[in-house]
Amino acid sequence: MTELKNCQTCGQQPEFYWRDYTSGSCFGELKCIDRECIAQRCRVSVSYGAGSQKRATNRLIEQWNELMAKENQHG
Ligand SMILES: [Zn+2]
Repeated sequence: MTELKNCQTCGQQPEFYWRDYTSGSCFGELKCIDRECIAQRCRVSVSYGAGSQKRATNRLIEQWNELMAKENQHG
């Protein structure tokens, strides 16, 4: 499993939020626990089909790490 980076802005670990339904379209989010960070778009989201939460988890982690890599470049 891909390693989940801490938030580059505040250094805290982000949290997952799920709307995981047994059928149809589901929704997952990975966002910083700091409200100000969330306001600064320290969040990524993904929609996925029911039963694909594992794949969605990996997608979220990849997106988060990409976002954090970008944050890092801006300094
Ligand atoms: Zn943060």
